[in-house]
Amino acid sequence: TLPDPSAGAAVKAADRAHVFHSWSAQGLIDPPAVAGAEGAYFWDYDGNRYLDFSSQLVNTNIGHQHPKVVAAVQEQAGRLCTIAPGFAVDVRSEAARLVAGRTPGDLDKIFFTNGGAEAVENAVRMARLHTGRPKLLSAYRSYHGATAAAINLTGDPRRWPSDTASAGVVHFWGPYLYRSPFHATSEEEECARALAHLEDTIVFEGPQTIAAIILESVVGTAGILVPPAGYLAGVRELCDRHGIVFILDEVMAGFGRTGRWFAADHWGVTPDLLTFAKGVNSGYVPLGGVAISAEIAATFDRRPYPGGLTYSGHPLACASAVATIEAMAEEGIVEHAAHLGEHVLGPGLRALAERHPSVGEVRGMGVFWALELVKDRTTREPLVPYNAAGEAAAPMNAFAAACKKSGLWPFVNMNRTHVVPPCTLTEAEAREGLAILDEALTVADSHTV
Ligand code: PLP
Repeated sequence: TLPDPSAGAAVKAADRAHVFHSWSAQGLIDPPAVAGAEGAYFWDYDGNRYLDFSSQLVNTNIGHQHPKVVAAVQEQAGRLCTIAPGFAVDVRSEAARLVAGRTPGDLDKIFFTNGGAEAVENAVRMARLHTGRPKLLSAYRSYHGATAAAINLTGDPRRWPSDTASAGVVHFWGPYLYRSPFHATSEEEECARALAHLEDTIVFEGPQTIAAIILESVVGTAGILVPPAGYLAGVRELCDRHGIVFILDEVMAGFGRTGRWFAADHWGVTPDLLTFAKGVNSGYVPLGGVAISAEIAATFDRRPYPGGLTYSGHPLACASAVATIEAMAEEGIVEHAAHLGEHVLGPGLRALAERHPSVGEVRGMGVFWALELVKDRTTREPLVPYNAAGEAAAPMNAFAAACKKSGLWPFVNMNRTHVVPPCTLTEAEAREGLAILDEALTVADSHTV
């Protein structure tokens, strides 16, 4: 497509007049106008093309405009656009079968939602009704969505404006060796101390009051924190011992992002409930859901489940999930993500860390990586303070601007840049992105001591 700046200007003008944007001071934003996208790239009306190292909001795991998924949505639109959740319909049955066939253990029943937050809301409702207990435990370094219960479970600062003391949520510290809350010096120590801290929290809150513990299998937005070996299994054991429902939130980590269908597969851990969204159909049509264990599903065999959504299991969303999962399986996309992590992105990012004093730590797996940027490698002082805004965030903003100027769309959160491209990224595209990061990191280096 040829650049058409006047069309872009009209899109922007209508946007500024009428679209109310997420998470933003409406008068202080300038949303870029997107004209199109394909694979790992999107472009604007002025002729600028960006390699998307953020996968939008870490959801376009299969890349933009995958032809099989586009065709499936078109075909379904011609056949049946919508039907209420109370009917059995071919694409919904098939989407549920394909998801259940990949979730760990006996998580074989699927409740569909429109996205991640609704999945978390319903998982929490199921856990509370199943146990008859009120409280929920979640990690400070977490994001679980922006609806009522999900935002209270969230640990990052997006919770603060919506926090309600009545939500019954207690936050705890998860493992994070680079900034260990437990003064640990090894992964083993961090794991043991994080589990001891969680057990103390359970004991002091009263196990009989706790419905669920919710964790991201690999923490996403709050830092790509890969748990130490043994941590998730340890949480599973604590939940079993105290009759607590274990919810794993795989909204961001699921469907190939870590190089497995689900991140929990790396550690062979089966939760009681697993939430998913994003990568299930790469967001071509809004979709999320909860995968439910046999025991929790049985709670609602004779007792009605008191929750539902007009668009639960929407045919267009389910058709795109079926096509996405089939394409990912046929084309080896999950294995490709693992290969990229092991042989291209991991080594490439570690090489960047050697050259750039601003890189404090590189961590991740698959196409799910973070570079933690610091002022000083010895003290590990973050390049910008926690939750910095305005002038205090300037070094990270300058880094992001340098990436964009060279045609890379980065994912920046606080003092980190996350490297979260589509699972379908080619090796050549990965190297192109690494080269741009290499250049942009010199901007971050200029802010080190
Ligand atoms: N859970 C996790 C781990 C997420 O990363 C997100 C979104 O980023 C959500 C839940 C919320 O999903 P949604 O924005 O689709 O409501």
